[in-house]
Amino acid sequence: MGPQRCSAVRPNGQRCKKRTPRCDLCFQHMLQEFGVYIAPSQVVPGGAAGLGVFAARSFSPPKGKKGNQLRLPYTGDRVATRDGKLPGGFGGSHYVFQLTRERSIDAARTNSGVGRMVNAARGSGKKPNEYLCPDGKKRTASIVATQNIDPGDEIIVAYGSGFWATHPQEEAK
Ligand SMILES: [Zn+2]
Repeated sequence: MGPQRCSAVRPNGQRCKKRTPRCDLCFQHMLQEFGVYIAPSQVVPGGAAGLGVFAARSFSPPKGKKGNQLRLPYTGDRVATRDGKLPGGFGGSHYVFQLTRERSIDAARTNSGVGRMVNAARGSGKKPNEYLCPDGKKRTASIVATQNIDPGDEIIVAYGSGFWATHPQEEAK
């Protein structure tokens, strides 16, 4: 799918007119709402990991200073976890996170939340500073800081077993 319109609503009540190719918010609204920006990833030297998400300001883990926390939405299409076991599971999507035994979330669509752009630490030798956690009530997931993050730091997630259970092929990378 190509670029789509930013989903943010401006203070005047009108929807932002910018177009965005990688997630549901334009650069400006991503910065404004979540304090992050997208740039070439440093998880793998030489740019092999493509783009990643970086902190534009300082963040603390959930137990740290209030108002300084990071919570990036991991949204997308709801899919059945069992579909991952079928041949070509999840349509080949690399963005599926398992919420429960029955339910998973597929952030393959480029109008999903900014969490889809965060890279994983696994296999890179880098330490994760975030984790992806299911939100059972809302049936969504969020990426949450596990340690202090400084401006300019790349946000690196430890997807955990919920993600990797459905991505055996990526584990070997
Ligand atoms: Zn916007």
